[in-house]
This record gives sequence, C-alpha cells and structure tokens, in this order.
Amino acid sequence: MNCFNHQDREAAAQCRFCGKGVCDECGIRLGRNRGVACSVECERTARAELRKADARRKLGFVGFVLFAVALTVMLALGTERRGGPWLLLLLPYAGGSILMTWFLFFSSWHFYMWAAHGAPFHAGDHVLITSGPHKGIKGDVVRLSAGSATTVVVGLTVDGKSLVHHFGWEELRKLRKPAAPIED
Ligand SMILES: [Zn+2]
Ligand SMILES: [Zn+2]
Repeated sequence: MNCFNHQDREAAAQCRFCGKGVCDECGIRLGRNRGVACSVECERTARAELRKADARRKLGFVGFVLFAVALTVMLALGTERRGGPWLLLLLPYAGGSILMTWFLFFSSWHFYMWAAHGAPFHAGDHVLITSGPHKGIKGDVVRLSAGSATTVVVGLTVDGKSLVHHFGWEELRKLRKPAAPIED
C-alpha cells in the first residue's frame, strides 16, 4: 500500500480511523503505540475513540481496586469480630482479595464476551462491528493481533475500499453467516 498523498511512497502506517495508507511525513501521530491519523478530521475522531477507551479502562481499574479493598475489609472485620488476629492477617487477606477480584473480573468479562459477542474470535470468523466509526459494517477476521490476546485484525469494505483494522473483542459480534454478500 502506498501513501494516499504520495502515490510513489510506500505507506509507513494506516490511518487509525479510515485505514488510508500514510507515509512518515503525512501521518499525524496519536501517541505511543496508538498509531497515526491521515487528517485532522480523522485525528479528532480517533482521539475521541481513544479517550472513551481510556475512560472505560480507568473505570474498570477503579472498580477492581474498590472490590478488592471491600473484600479485604470484610475479611478483616469478620476475623476481628471473632476475636482473631485481623491485623496479622491483613496482608494475606489483601493478597487473597486481589487474586479473587482478578479472577472474578477476568472470568466474568470473558463470560460476557462469550455470551454477548461470540468471543473468542479466530481467523476466518465472520463478524459485525458493533461500536466505533465502523459500526454496522460486516467483515472477516484476518488474523489475531500480535500485541493483545483479546484483539483481532478484521478485513472490511468501507465505501468500496478494502481496509484492515484492529478491533477489540468488545467491538465485535460473531455472525453465523458469511459477511458477503451484504444485503441491506
Ligand atoms: Zn483517515
Ligand atoms: Zn505521504
């Protein structure tokens, strides 16, 4: 793929929003490991998407910490009420609570992804994009992402152009029927 602006140059990256190929000179950097945008418009949309994802991640982290702390306090209070050495057990209680919370969050997220989205996804799966700028478009999983176990690379056609994009499990739903032909 070549740069959309310089047809003679090999593209160094793809726009995170629209998938256009861009050379090093034309790509607008979105931040470390966040890819590039091809234009100010695409940059704005891509940044809004990234902000939303960041907010979700932060909320998940806050929930995780609150749950683990509540579990630790509950265990310590229970021990204290029975006259046990609650202070001595605080550290093991905290450790156990963090492990248990991690397991609960992890397994419930995976269960939800399985039940509502059809995850896990594999190469060749037919999928529907359920959020973001490509919402409503159908495509095929090309391969699994190298960096993340819960992200896959999907090939899709937007306005007659073939694009390849990374999608998280939460942005996809598995379809039973092939993506093409699309009749709407
Ligand atoms: Zn773009
Ligand atoms: Zn260029």
